[in-house]
Amino acid sequence: MKLDSPVAKLPLVGPVYVRRLEKLGIQTVEDLIHHIPHRYNDYSHIAKIAHVQAGETATIRAELKELKNLYTKHGKKIQAGIVSDNSGNMQVIWFNQPFLARNLKKGSHLSLSGKVDFFNRERALLSPDYEYFNPGYQTLHTGRLVPVYPETAQISSKWLRARINYVLQNIGHLEEFLPDFLLKQNNLLDFNTAINSIHFPQKLEDAQKARVRLSFDELLFLQLKNQYKKENWNQNKAIHNLRIDKKIYKEFTNSLPFNLTLSQKKAIGEIFSDLQKETPMNRLLEGDVGSGKTVVAATCAFCSFINGFQSVFMAPTQILANQHYKTLQEIFAKFKVRVTLITSAGVKSDFGKTDIYVGTHALIHKKVNFENVAIVVIDEQHRFGVEQRAHLVKKSGKKSHSPHVLTMTATPIPRTIALTFYGDLDLSTLDELPKGRQKITTWIVPPLKREAAYNWIKEQIKKERVQGFIICPLIEESQVESMRQVKAATVEYEKLCKVFANSVKLGLLHGRLKAKEKDTTMDKFRAGDIDILVSTPVVEVGIDVANATLMIIEAAERFGLAQLHQLRGRIGRGKKKSYCLLFTSRKSKTTNQRLKALKENKSGFELAELDLKMRGPGEVFGTRQHGFPELKIASWNDSGVIKLTKKVAEDVIGNKTRYPKLIEKLESKEIILN
Ligand code: ADP
Ligand code: MG
Repeated sequence: MKLDSPVAKLPLVGPVYVRRLEKLGIQTVEDLIHHIPHRYNDYSHIAKIAHVQAGETATIRAELKELKNLYTKHGKKIQAGIVSDNSGNMQVIWFNQPFLARNLKKGSHLSLSGKVDFFNRERALLSPDYEYFNPGYQTLHTGRLVPVYPETAQISSKWLRARINYVLQNIGHLEEFLPDFLLKQNNLLDFNTAINSIHFPQKLEDAQKARVRLSFDELLFLQLKNQYKKENWNQNKAIHNLRIDKKIYKEFTNSLPFNLTLSQKKAIGEIFSDLQKETPMNRLLEGDVGSGKTVVAATCAFCSFINGFQSVFMAPTQILANQHYKTLQEIFAKFKVRVTLITSAGVKSDFGKTDIYVGTHALIHKKVNFENVAIVVIDEQHRFGVEQRAHLVKKSGKKSHSPHVLTMTATPIPRTIALTFYGDLDLSTLDELPKGRQKITTWIVPPLKREAAYNWIKEQIKKERVQGFIICPLIEESQVESMRQVKAATVEYEKLCKVFANSVKLGLLHGRLKAKEKDTTMDKFRAGDIDILVSTPVVEVGIDVANATLMIIEAAERFGLAQLHQLRGRIGRGKKKSYCLLFTSRKSKTTNQRLKALKENKSGFELAELDLKMRGPGEVFGTRQHGFPELKIASWNDSGVIKLTKKVAEDVIGNKTRYPKLIEKLESKEIILN
């Protein structure tokens, strides 16, 4: 048996279990031993029957005197038995496991671990874990610190424990792959000890130390993967070389109806310095909703235009693509830059004779010649799959030549995490909003005040002639909008039609509408023919309608704070005062604390950090939605280890000879190489 042996080679792992393990991402022996317990049952207290007391968790070694099924009044089955050791007798009780009465033979010696309590007024061991006991042999499921694995994919903790134990008993000493100096410097356990003690620790401290080492490994591999990607990218050459003419750039920024913020200027500076290099840019522009990423990207596209080349702008949805199309046309009107919109609904404007292609992922599949494209911009990049992004970039490049790539996201990932997760990219951050933005007043609205809130909204719309959004409850997170979600939105819409009767014009927006219908609805909203847009949570974070000043979010507690903040970012873009109403019927303290943070007008980054502490990264960054890597052992809160592993990874890439075994391991693993 070797680390890379498939699990199917292990005894008792048949095709059914191979499939179940695969669901957990476990294919090899190595994957299996990296499946980590989430806690331990402390069964290390071994006692005589005469000495154990109610309330105690203990292990006893005893002979099974009898065991039979009893039936309760409610038709449930209880397995009641008597066990005995040389100090006395005791009851042992299980619930609803009738097979036990058949399987456990009278007279056999058992090791039993569990909680002691009263049953029929006498001491009993309740639902203990059990196994046959052979003096002189180490028990596995009882009488020690017993690892408990998350029970998913129909695999019991007991089954996993036995399989992992088998591997560890038979695989021999696990070879170390990190150099000695690194382990010493950072006070890390060796690999063999770490794996053995994470599963079967002598003491809890040993498990803790093992966790530190394995967290280090996990983050280091993640960092290395990105460093390798970066190294790979840097072997490319830019497909078209660009020159930056400061004067023309000035002329362009002067033509904008506003002054750029300092951080916009800084980001543009960083981008320009990339664009003049022979190595193509691969940069992530991260900035809160409304921080003005589009104009930064437009400046980039302008540079390509001035040099006689084209650019491509890809957005995740029809509506956003449309919006960019209009924005770019406006911005560039003076400069005669030609913009073409390409979506699955068709192509707008003159094919072939264009300077900027704007579109959805239809850009990837449409037969368009991208030979002249120097820059690719991907907006809301987290909403595309890795392959989709790669595809577009590839389409605009040729062998070992690549366009400059700017990806953009409004997901406010804290910097340390971004530097890991996006470790292969250079990072620019827009950390301020344009001046003159209205503060958005945010209220938490309990059920009692719902009606009053609706009345207030009616009044606002009538008196102030403003518009707004109502966001339906989040039912489940998924990239493709589920039918349930669409249905919920439709129901909500119908309900609201009644609430507002004829006083407010409502529109409905969800992902299953035809592109044309979405366009029409958005156009009507922009033109003011719809007062309130009722929409599902996943649609259109980037919408920019200055007259929209009201945002109502249903069941607000179900959203991550960063997500709420992004939704709220759709309003407050114009001069009028904006309001966000968070509807919630939950009264818990955490809900309150979380939603209150939104009232304090913190930045998206601050909110994300807060939620990271309170709810964990999956919730904050919408793991399932954005492909954010779920860490198995390490934690995204562990910024110390994150920084450390980043430094180590950089050293590994720069000084490969110092890490021979690690390099060997990396190169034998496909993940690192592509
Ligand atoms: P996001 O970063 O969310 O994509 P946008 O690029 O859509 O933000 O910009 C939001 C709005 O802010 C747009 O209407 C844009 O014209 C405006 N804007 C961008 N930069 C500035 C600035 N420096 N000053 C004032 N308004 C700006
Ligand atoms: Mg945007």
